[in-house]
Amino acid sequence: MESIEKALVLKVGRFREVDAWLKLFSPRKGVFNAFAFGGSVSRRRFLGCLDPLNVVTFKVKSDAAKGYTYLLEGALVRAHPRLRQDQERLGMAVNCLKFLEAVHLGHPGSEAVYDLTLETLDTLEAGGNPCGLLPLFFRARMAFDQGFRPDFTACARCGVLLDQAPPPSLFLVEQGRLHCSQCRRWGKGAAAILGGEALQALRDLSEHGPARWADMSLPARARGEVARSVDLFVEYHLGLTWDHGSFRRF
Ligand SMILES: [Zn+2]
Repeated sequence: MESIEKALVLKVGRFREVDAWLKLFSPRKGVFNAFAFGGSVSRRRFLGCLDPLNVVTFKVKSDAAKGYTYLLEGALVRAHPRLRQDQERLGMAVNCLKFLEAVHLGHPGSEAVYDLTLETLDTLEAGGNPCGLLPLFFRARMAFDQGFRPDFTACARCGVLLDQAPPPSLFLVEQGRLHCSQCRRWGKGAAAILGGEALQALRDLSEHGPARWADMSLPARARGEVARSVDLFVEYHLGLTWDHGSFRRF
């Protein structure tokens, strides 16, 4: 069966001198592997396509009997040249993509995740100075978009609007709820303290796209609060923790 897939190239490997295998992420198929036979020598069929971080429209053929997918030809939609040359930006992009792979193996219907990933890469490519926490922001947003979006506006116990209550609030990670400072003592389970700036940052993350939060600057204390709460949240809801350069599922 043949189809047209717009996909982000996550990884490229070469084998048998002229052939290549790719790990791709498309909004329709999720993360999947495909072969490009003759891909390393065919300038006509895959001109400039077979590099990580490229967005490519591929003509794809799936062979159900043999259980694999291969690429017939590709047309480059856009590359991210600045990302590839800037070690700091590249490091952040790779971290985001590792998380995407760890969370999102082969899920179909990935439009929202695909859009978030592309917007994040485009912002890293084009934007000003990205915040060092960008990969963490990406993880938070991915977790929120998987159906675990907490309510950052009101206290889950008394209903007071959190931006009108005195800080800090308590983020109850397991329930995805917040308690105001008055109701903190009724919170149970894993929890993180959020001052006013950290709360506002998490609200921005849940409501806006990467163009809005990629260069967010936060004071040290708020950075610590956001980092701790996102790590706890991702660990609890997605079962992933960052360990020696890769995400580990436990
Ligand atoms: Zn309350």
